Amino acid sequence: MPSPFDILRRLMGGPAPLANLGPEHATPTDRAMMAHAITLARAAATRGEVPVGAVVYETATGRPLSHAANTREHDKDPAGHAEFTAIRHAAGLLGDWRLNGCTLVVTLEPCAMCAGLIVNARLGRLVFGALDPKAGACGSLMNLTQDPRLNHRTRPIQGLMADECAALLKDFFKARRTAR
Ligand SMILES: [Zn+2]
Repeated sequence: MPSPFDILRRLMGGPAPLANLGPEHATPTDRAMMAHAITLARAAATRGEVPVGAVVYETATGRPLSHAANTREHDKDPAGHAEFTAIRHAAGLLGDWRLNGCTLVVTLEPCAMCAGLIVNARLGRLVFGALDPKAGACGSLMNLTQDPRLNHRTRPIQGLMADECAALLKDFFKARRTAR
């Protein structure tokens, strides 16, 4: 059976469905990728992982390159954040550490570690769902992806399907609290 990612790849494999929107707007492709990232996040929650999902796709073609969810608990890895893994896999697949031509779609505002990787990978576009007032480094606590002192900047598109992204996290932490 094809995985949801295979289906998504097939759906998005055609010409770029980019509407005539400015760079500050989420595109229909962003929305489809976010829906997939939410599915990944939801599945991660059932494994006891903080529900965050991420997809990296080629901006011009809409071709999905990689997808990931949080794996910190399973891998006992502090770097096991969804977008961190997705970025590294996308670079490996492209054979290039520069991801200027790519878009990262992630359900939660990236932390300082992931925002640092976004800058280092020179990601072309960043789209995220919910804000993270406790650890977000793309506007909440700090703004690493738009710091003029760094050599690469990406202005994030934030708030795409934010309610759904935030509800996943809220439900997860609520369930964990009551389980204790
Ligand atoms: Zn992170």
